[in-house]
Formats: sequence, structure tokens, C-alpha cells
Amino acid sequence: MSHIKENIVHIQKEIQALCRDIGKDPQEIHLIAVTKTIDASRINEAIAEGIVNIGENKVQEILNKFEQVNDINWHMIGHLQTNKVKYIIDKVQMIHSVDRIHLAEEINKKAKQINRCIDILIQVNIAKEETKFGIDEKDIYDFIDQLALLPHIRVKGLMTIAPFEENPEEVRIHFKRMKQLFDEIHDKNIKGIEMRYLSMGMTNDFKIAIEEGSNMVRIGTGIFGKRNYTE
Ligand SMILES: *Cc1c(COP(=O)(O)O)cnc(C)c1O
Repeated sequence: MSHIKENIVHIQKEIQALCRDIGKDPQEIHLIAVTKTIDASRINEAIAEGIVNIGENKVQEILNKFEQVNDINWHMIGHLQTNKVKYIIDKVQMIHSVDRIHLAEEINKKAKQINRCIDILIQVNIAKEETKFGIDEKDIYDFIDQLALLPHIRVKGLMTIAPFEENPEEVRIHFKRMKQLFDEIHDKNIKGIEMRYLSMGMTNDFKIAIEEGSNMVRIGTGIFGKRNYTE
């Protein structure tokens, strides 16, 4: 039996309760249902329960499901190879994983070809993990200066994937640092660079992320249950 509906209601309630506690408007928190390995019929079930944003981490999965999933905002949240930008440029609402200039230039080029501007987030490797993608925070201002020159890209904020910790309290420090960086960039008022979305927090740590200033959480397991990678 599917628990998608109950899970979504549960998470929405948790977000509401948390926002009440910390004096935030729950409407400001964008929930992205992460649908990797989840088939189209279950995704459509989530959409029927009010989900409007879905996140995928592989180009191929977006292509496989695109036609079968009801009208929705697709978010590319995983590592993106430059040569695959062309397949998703007309399909996704936002790319969360922009972490190198070659990728940004390719996105800009392909967006220009279809006459659109695309919203992106800068992925930051805030915990400096060797295994993770994302830009190092020390390089972020140079990167922003380069991004600001690309007219078909609109920088809308930052994204990070925190290290997995049994005790999510241990990642609070990274979320705090992300929020500082986000505010710092915001306050610089750089032309063409908007700091509107701070995409951080997953099933295990989304409450801590929201407490520290996230306004976009990406939740997979908490909605669809444990993923079955052999499906
Ligand atoms: C899989 C994934 C998530 C969701 O993870 P859960 O722990 O299942 O909530 C969020 N963000 C990214 C980038 C992911 O790849």
C-alpha cells in the first residue's frame, strides 16, 4: 500500500509546526518531492496531493518520465554533465547543481538557442567533502562574477547537500554557514544575481535546515519511502 498521501500531509504539518515555532510563514518554504527511482504513476499520485515541484538527479530519469508526468515544475538537483544540458534545457524549471563555469556557459548557450532564460542555483560544497560536487566557498565570488555575464542564466540562490550524519544536529553548522554566505551575497546587491532560494535540507535534516534559513527543501524518502535502486 502506498503512503504517499499520509507522508505528504505529515511533512506539511511538520513544516507548519516548525514555522510556527520559529516565526516563519510556512508558505515561504518550497517543498520539492525528490522522485529519483520513483515511477510516473507514484509521482502523479504525489502531484494529486498538491506537490508542484519535483526533483530528479539524473537526466535520463527526467527524459524517461517527462511525457508521463502531469504538468509540473521539474528541478534538476543532481550532478549535470555538460554534454547532457541539451536534453533538459526545455524541460526543467530550475537547475540546482551549477558548480563550474563550463556547465554554466553550456546552459547559457542552450537556453539562448531556445530563447529562454533559466533559473539556476549555485551548488556549494560547504563541508568541503572530497566526494561531493559543488564549488568551494572561497571561489564563490569569482564564480558569481562570471555567471553575471551570462544573459540566459538567472542566478536565484544557493544549494548544498550536507554530509549524511546519523545525528542531523551535526550538520547545523554547515547550514548556518550557508545562510551566512547567502545573506552576504544578497547584501552585496550584485547586478543580475538574486539570492531568493536557499535549497538545503533532505529527509534526514530538513527541520534543522529550515531552522537555519532554508526555504527550499528536497525530500525523497520522507514522501515515497525507501528507494529501491533495482526497480
Ligand atoms: C536523493 C536526493 C535528495 C533527497 O534525499 P532523501 O534523503 O531521500 O530525502 C535531495 N537532494 C538531492 C540532491 C538528492 O540527490
